[in-house]
Amino acid sequence: MHESGIAYDIYATSKRAAEDNGAVKIKTIFVDVGAMAMMNPDQIEFMFETFVTDDPLFSEAKLVFTTVPPLAECTCGYSGSEIFVCPICGKLPHLVQGRGIFVKNIEIDVEE
Ligand SMILES: [Zn+2]
Repeated sequence: MHESGIAYDIYATSKRAAEDNGAVKIKTIFVDVGAMAMMNPDQIEFMFETFVTDDPLFSEAKLVFTTVPPLAECTCGYSGSEIFVCPICGKLPHLVQGRGIFVKNIEIDVEE
């Protein structure tokens, strides 16, 4: 069910961005998917299609997913890809990137 909420969020975010920019068609929606998000892009795409099916703005829209590698930061100053144990001090670092899914950019057609 999580995928459904995310798919709707992608739909709403790109629609708002398109309207703000006077788009007549959305061509491509670039979505960043965190490697730790545990989401199935196929499932998101499937749900997304159900939201946009009656919206002409999206009639040519396609989703392009990019996987974002995890990035952690620790209070000791460490920053890197070790997300479970800090290699410097051994504490649990804080995940700052790689969990979320969000619209990075959209490609649109605007009216001449
Ligand atoms: Zn540390």
